[in-house]
Amino acid sequence: MNPLEGFGSLVFNNRVMQERLPREVYRRLRKTMEDGKSLESAVAGVVANAMKDWAIEKGVTHYTHWFQPMTGVTAEKHDSFIAPAEGGGVIMEFSGKELIQGEPDASSFPSGGLRATFEARGYTSWDPTSYAFIKDSTLCIPTAFCSYGGHALDKKTPLLRSMERLNAQASRVLRLLGGGVETRVIATVGPEQEYFLIDKDDYNARRDLRITGRTLFGAKPPKGQEMDDHYFGAIRPRVRTFMKDLNDELWKLGILAKTEHNETAPSQHELAPIFTTANIAADHNQLTMETMKRVADRHGLVCLLHEKPFEGVNGSGKHNNWSLQTDRGENLLEPGENPGQNVRFLVFLSAVLAAVDDYQDLLRCSVASAGNDCRLGADEAPPAIVSVFLGDEITAVLEAIDAGRDFSGGEKTTVGLGVHTMVRFARDSTDRNRTSPFAFTGNKFEFRSLGSSLSVSGPNFVLNTIAAESLCQIADELETGKDVSDVIRDTIRAHKRIIFNGNNYSKEWAEEAARRGLMNLPASVDAIAEFVSEKNVALFEKHAIFTGEEVCARYEILLESYCKTVRIEAQTMAEMSMREILPAALAYTERLASAGLRKKELLPGLECAAETDLAARVSAHSDALYKNTLSLEAEAAQAANPGFGVLQRAEFYRDRVLSAMRAVRASADALETLVAREYWPFPTYGDILYRV
Ligand code: ADP
Ligand code: MG
Repeated sequence: MNPLEGFGSLVFNNRVMQERLPREVYRRLRKTMEDGKSLESAVAGVVANAMKDWAIEKGVTHYTHWFQPMTGVTAEKHDSFIAPAEGGGVIMEFSGKELIQGEPDASSFPSGGLRATFEARGYTSWDPTSYAFIKDSTLCIPTAFCSYGGHALDKKTPLLRSMERLNAQASRVLRLLGGGVETRVIATVGPEQEYFLIDKDDYNARRDLRITGRTLFGAKPPKGQEMDDHYFGAIRPRVRTFMKDLNDELWKLGILAKTEHNETAPSQHELAPIFTTANIAADHNQLTMETMKRVADRHGLVCLLHEKPFEGVNGSGKHNNWSLQTDRGENLLEPGENPGQNVRFLVFLSAVLAAVDDYQDLLRCSVASAGNDCRLGADEAPPAIVSVFLGDEITAVLEAIDAGRDFSGGEKTTVGLGVHTMVRFARDSTDRNRTSPFAFTGNKFEFRSLGSSLSVSGPNFVLNTIAAESLCQIADELETGKDVSDVIRDTIRAHKRIIFNGNNYSKEWAEEAARRGLMNLPASVDAIAEFVSEKNVALFEKHAIFTGEEVCARYEILLESYCKTVRIEAQTMAEMSMREILPAALAYTERLASAGLRKKELLPGLECAAETDLAARVSAHSDALYKNTLSLEAEAAQAANPGFGVLQRAEFYRDRVLSAMRAVRASADALETLVAREYWPFPTYGDILYRV
């Protein structure tokens, strides 16, 4: 594909709108997109018609409201444009109402109790700030999804709400800093996506991969990533063709996939898009993940998006690059040549510090999932302790401000910090700290704790909301007449404990963080429990992101989904153990025994050390595997105790079921290293990771 011609060819984007809509309709639609005003139905009718004509020219016959329920994957309900016409024929129709609102059956999506079963109806409503696009010959309309009673049941609604609140508070601060013109502030996001590509035959041969997305068994491969030859190594031809195909598909959808390279683990890769507004970035990331899976399938491959598909091998994450930009394209986190004199930068930077410090728990919770627990805190992903990396230069600027060094303050619009030693800010020297969960990387923050399969909506609505809150506090102070340099200094002083530029993987940091009073929530269940704390509910209510009821519903959904994930893993594990691994081990034991017997018969006088000893070891591990599997089944049965509340159940899964799973795995992995290859029932790590 020629990217110049094909780029965005499947998107009803600004260019198409300009071409196909009457000027006045276009103008009103843009206004809606930019100001979040609702669209008049007459305008919607014209837009719908133009969309339909454009889609039909591209061979499309159906449309769908495309939405992001709380399952983490996208959902669609297809309808055709065809309507009966007078005289028995058909016409192709798509009304403004059909564009603006849909009524999918909501009963199959998680609602955390917000949608009583008798009230199965849910509404989808068009999000005009994200472009419609064509996928699988269907016109997809990005929509938000809510219950009949108006409660948010999806991931898009809180993100859109948070972007509005952030805009309100950030532009309020800009006005107070003396920016005369009315500005709009947009959160920008560029999520880097890691993934594994493996052979489809290997995938199909493993029940655990098919059902849970990760391997529940597997001894460490002989050659791990310690060789370090994978990252930036040559991309293998089969993967090359996959990437080319993937790029073509993404470009047609208007998604600018820019860089791709191998990641640290074997068979692992990464895709980085060019950043865009948070809302579109979230839609695009969902589409990217979907497209990766679809394209891989065409190439006889499977794309694994699980956070930790292989134990002992680096897992996959998603780096959420986030910044704030005005509608004139200025990046508010751009330090410029002289950050110490850049008031606007310092205000926004200290607002982010305050936000992260005050809401460490919410950020931690925004990346919580059973899958991410397999990877966070192991020496490959940031720890569960949230902190901010700023790099030496910016830290030195803040230290000077904190110490009041050469601080000449005064005027409203400039802070004379006089940090003479730092006249020029060399961006490239913000050395890369790969261990920090939240790192300043020159003119944006990179939130690195996200798991690879996560929708980026969650972390971003949290980021936007907590930033809106700290900007609101700063605006409140400025409105009382407090000097901006005092506001900056006091904010830094109050929140500097959140800054850490050292090695986040070290044990010393965990101890130091505890001394600083930072939160440490290693397990997702603990983090999710904090979601409904009084302080967090108050935050969401204050900024009208969620009602108290909606917060509780989300809390339940998060915990239920955690329990469901672990339950399915436990069942799959027990089944593979009993029906695949044990039979293989027993067959091999029998083989060893009969080999020993035969040897004694045919070659009396020879020793049978190998046969006897191996058989004894295999047999011991088999007995252990059997017993451990029975305990796992017992624990899993107990976890279903109807007397448990949702938090209690999740804690039971975390403590009891997961530890029973670890025991099963240990005996099975020990067997894998002993049992003959031809007996082993499925492909091993070595087979899977070095094949593609
Ligand atoms: P780096 O070299 O620091 O990794 P890149 O420019 O390659 O930076 O960007 C990495 C990711 O960050 C890309 O996905 C990019 O689109 C995104 N990114 C860059 N600038 C911004 C920004 N202002 N806001 C959000 N994301 C951004
Ligand atoms: Mg990165």
